[in-house]
Amino acid sequence: MSNKNSNNKELIVAKIDNGVVIDHITPPGRAFYALKVLKIDEKYPHSAFVALNVPSKKLGRKDVLKIRNIDEKDLNIEVLGLIISGSNVAYIKDYHIVKKEKIITPKKATGILNCPSSTCITNQREDVETQFVVITSKDVIKLRCEYCDIIFNIHERISLLR
Ligand SMILES: [Zn+2]
Repeated sequence: MSNKNSNNKELIVAKIDNGVVIDHITPPGRAFYALKVLKIDEKYPHSAFVALNVPSKKLGRKDVLKIRNIDEKDLNIEVLGLIISGSNVAYIKDYHIVKKEKIITPKKATGILNCPSSTCITNQREDVETQFVVITSKDVIKLRCEYCDIIFNIHERISLLR
């Protein structure tokens, strides 16, 4: 009985048959960045469910993404680590979780985004790979270019991601 009641109070988002569920995305709103990075928009041929600002016992508020039929190779976990670190990815096959993975912030980011400084050597020469040190403080993730020392907030410069 009490079980039934608590279920009734839960926000229900459709279960997906195949694909991924990305849960515990905080702070709320970061799901939009993840969609952008994953290139999920109206042209994506399958359904994607976005739940924003969902109450969570542990986290206060969170976002949840459910993306049908996305290929595991299209999830760049290193890139997601810069965008939605701390979230969990569950890989779903025939309605069952076949694998779980926690998204952690990488210490460095190499070759996955461009430097915002046009005068940086990485933007001048093709043979110099971009390299950034990741600086985190609470929910803010900043990157420092190893070559020109520019520091920027990744969520403000998301278009730099390749
Ligand atoms: Zn640079």
